[in-house]
Parts: sequence; C-alpha cells; structure tokens
Amino acid sequence: MPFLSYAHVLELQQQLEGTRARVICAGSDEYAESIKRWSDTCEKEAGAVVKVTSTSEVSEVIRFAREHRIAFVVEAGGHSTTGSSASHGGIVISLSEMRKVLTDPASKTVCVQGGATWQDVNSSTAPYGLVVVGATSSHTGVGGSTLGGGYGWLTGRYGLIIDNLLSVRMVLADGSIVEASETTSPDLFWAVRGAGQAFGVVTELVFRAYDLKHHVFGGVLYFTSDKLPEIVQFANEFHRRMDDRSGLLVGFTAPPFMEETAVVAIPFYNGSRDEAERFFEPLMLAQPVKGQVDMMSYTKLNAIANVEPSPEGRKSLNGTNIPLPLDTDFMRDVYNQFDQVMKDYRRVGNSVLVFELLPYTHIIEVPLDATACANRGRYYNVGSVFCWQDPDMDHKMQTEQQAIITRIDQFGSRGQDEHHVVAYANYAGHNTDVKDIFGENLERLQQLKKIYDPNNVFRKWHDLLHLKTGSHSG
Ligand SMILES: Cc1cc2nc3c(=O)[nH]c(=O)nc-3n(C[C@H](O)[C@H](O)[C@H](O)COP(=O)(O)OP(=O)(O)OC[C@H]3O[C@@H](n4cnc5c(N)ncnc54)[C@H](O)[C@@H]3O)c2cc1C
Repeated sequence: MPFLSYAHVLELQQQLEGTRARVICAGSDEYAESIKRWSDTCEKEAGAVVKVTSTSEVSEVIRFAREHRIAFVVEAGGHSTTGSSASHGGIVISLSEMRKVLTDPASKTVCVQGGATWQDVNSSTAPYGLVVVGATSSHTGVGGSTLGGGYGWLTGRYGLIIDNLLSVRMVLADGSIVEASETTSPDLFWAVRGAGQAFGVVTELVFRAYDLKHHVFGGVLYFTSDKLPEIVQFANEFHRRMDDRSGLLVGFTAPPFMEETAVVAIPFYNGSRDEAERFFEPLMLAQPVKGQVDMMSYTKLNAIANVEPSPEGRKSLNGTNIPLPLDTDFMRDVYNQFDQVMKDYRRVGNSVLVFELLPYTHIIEVPLDATACANRGRYYNVGSVFCWQDPDMDHKMQTEQQAIITRIDQFGSRGQDEHHVVAYANYAGHNTDVKDIFGENLERLQQLKKIYDPNNVFRKWHDLLHLKTGSHSG
C-alpha cells in the first residue's frame, strides 16, 4: 500500500478545518507518541494519525479515506498485539481523545465513548456505587474488548460484556452514522456483539450497570511449582462449585523475586470477607510464598491483572479455551514447556499464561446464535501474554507461545461437541481461521458484511470474508 502523500495530509487537514480533530503526521511533535502501542511490535509508521473528538469527525475521516482509496484503521485502547489498530502508511483513526463516560444512576446505565478504558469507566461509576461488566484488566480498551465479546470478573454473575451492552452509535464503512440496539438495526446489533470491529467504528456504547457498594475480595498469590497438584485440585473444585460470585485466574509467570517459574493465582469473590476466605481456604492452605489477598474496591481489584511493563516492550497475546477438570500431569507438562521458555530467553519474565476460570452459567444461558460471539460453551478461556525486548526474537517468541497454545488446544479439544470454537476472537491471532472463531455464526456475519461493509473495509481485526486470514493491508 502506498504511503499517504503529503498532499493528502494537507487535504485532510483542510477538510477537518473548523472541527476539533487533529491530524498528526511525521515531523510533528506528537507523532512518535501517537504511533506507540501497548506492544512495540505494533508500532508502525502511519501516514497520519487523526485524533478525533466526535462521531461526525470519524465520519468525515472515513468518507475522505474511502474517496481517496486510503487504507485506515481504528485505535482505541491500543492493546491489540496483532497490529490491527496500527497502520503502515495509512490513516489511524485514534479514539484516544474520546474517553468520556457518563453514568446515569437513575436508569443505571453508563454511556461510554469508544476510546475509553475500563479504568475510565470505573472512575465514573464508582462514586455512584455502580459497576459495569468490564474486562479483568482495566488498562484495556472498552472498544476492542467489548466488540469481540468481553470477559471480566463480573462475568460469572452477569455474563459477557456484550450481554450487558444496550446500544451503540457507530460509523459504517460509507461514513453513515447509525444507532444499533435490540430494536434499532437489530441485525447490525447482533453482529456488533462479538464481531463489531469488522462492521464499523463504534463511538458510543451504552451499558447496563449494577449496584456494587461494598468491597470485593481479591489479590495475587505466588506458589512454588511443587504446589501445582494442590492448585489444580482447587481449580477443579472451583469449577464444580460454579459460584457466580467468584472468579479465578490460575497459571504461570516468572517474577523477579522468585528463583523458579511461579504458579500464580488471582482469586476474586464478590461477597463478604468471611465468605471469600471460606471459599478460597484450600488455596491459602497451599501456602503461597508471596502475594496477598484482601478486601478492596472493585476499581483497585480491576487493576490487579494489568500486565506490566506497560507500555514498553514487545508482546504477543494468544489463547484458546479448555473444558475442566484439569489434569495434573497435563498441567505439569504445560508448566515445563512455559518454564523452558523462561529459562531459554532473557528478559521474558513478565510473560504469563493463565487459565481464566470465570463461571460460565450465565454465558451459556444466552443461545449461541443470539449474538455473533460464538465462544459460549462449557469451557474457559486460556490467555497468554508473552513479553520480550529484542525485535530479533519476535518470531521465536510467537512460535514458542503458539506451541504452548496448540498443546492446550489439543488437550482441550478432546471429546468436544461440534459447537466448540477454537478461540475467543479477542485472543486469537491472525493465523486463526475465522471459522474456528465464529463457527456457525460465520455465515450470517458474512451475509451482513455484504450489507454493511460490502468492500470489506474493516478487515484488519479478523477478515470475516476470508476463511484463512492472509496478508492485511495497511
Ligand atoms: C493484558 C491484556 C489483558 C486482557 N484482558 C482481557 C479480559 O479480561 N477480557 C477480555 O475480554 N479481553 C481481554 N483482553 C483482550 C482485549 O479484549 C483485546 O486485546 C482488545 O482487542 C483490546 O482492545 P483495545 O481497544 O485496547 O485495543 P486496540 O488495539 O485499540 O483495538 C483492538 C481492535 O479493536 C478495534 N477497535 C477498538 N475499538 C474500536 C471501536 N470503538 N470501534 C471499532 N473498532 C474498534 C481496533 O480497530 C482493533 O482491530 C486482554 C488483552 C490484554 C493485552
């Protein structure tokens, strides 16, 4: 794709005159900062970054890009590690200045601009004693995490993030501005809930909020690897209990304060201290070597799983899903494979691999074809973030990570029914076949693409029209 010409930059600036949008290009002070992403692997030299401040400005930029056949991408929280919110030579529509959140305590609804993070949402809702189902990490963008489905600490109680989404305002591929909800453009709203990134730029999202006035229980616990059998046993017990007030991330990481790769657990309980301590007693009896749990505000809890360092360094997110119970021998194998990577390479210790045990009772209450998200089943996500510094290690680290994910996927696929999809859309890399992400919902998505985005302009997240995602322009 040709690099955006300076003439086009000037023309775009002219077109946006009188608006509050700012066009940033190479040579301007803000340029370096504006192309930074959570992962350095996604830092690309954009032709121009347009910091938009309103829905109509987004529409203007899309119309301009379409008219001049210029590739463009959308950036919200910037946490994608596949490069889907970065562009080489094209236009980046940056929503980073559209982060307003309006909480209405009377209707218990929260209106969020498309570039906000979950931290922004928590800051707005907390004073009213309200919460929204958001991701487990509050530094991720509301836009990306919601439109792909969305899992968080409150999923056990209230389902996926999209199950609590009431409506969106968005700009389509032709620049038109539309609202979508169960009653207005319901087919578009169906697609938005699980594959929204492939249909337009969402500038506003309205969520249902819930009362949460008390503190919740949470923390991070590190165990030596000899405790793996106890942790696996507890994870299986946790699964059997299926308590919708709970959540548990268990996995592996290599923190600097431990001599060996640690088994890590992040428990969550939305109840009293007594209830939580009773619930997680077996975990505490396994004697963590470091870490602590306590009662805390939901806002504080939501920041615990944020992956540091942020933003420096190169990172890769990948994942699959797995039914429980877990098998100790299998988990030992996965531990060994992860541990080997930690030993073989330098400065990779911030990497994590977690089994995300968020009770699925309410996720599977929603029929598989009720929203585009097809990752609803009696299984849990497994997510991994690999972190490294050296650009020469990009391929190696991604390959090592994929090998572990494939190993888990093979174990998890045993005896699965035909509805089993391989990965949660927001964790799947570009090499994942879209059929393995959207399963039986893919056909309807492809039909809707013909109506809402016939030229497949929005294809950088997952290319819904190609069974095997290939090279992506921009
Ligand atoms: C450390 C970490 C923790 C995570 N934890 C969770 C978790 O707990 N639960 C969960 O469900 N997911 C989680 N994720 C996955 C996360 O949902 C995805 O990485 C998501 O894509 C990030 O969104 P973003 O807005 O930050 O990223 P971006 O890179 O800005 O966007 C990602 C994709 O979404 C598109 N997009 C973003 N906003 C919009 C919008 N408003 N309109 C149209 N398209 C848009 C972008 O164009 C891009 O294709 C986590 C990821 C990381 C890295």
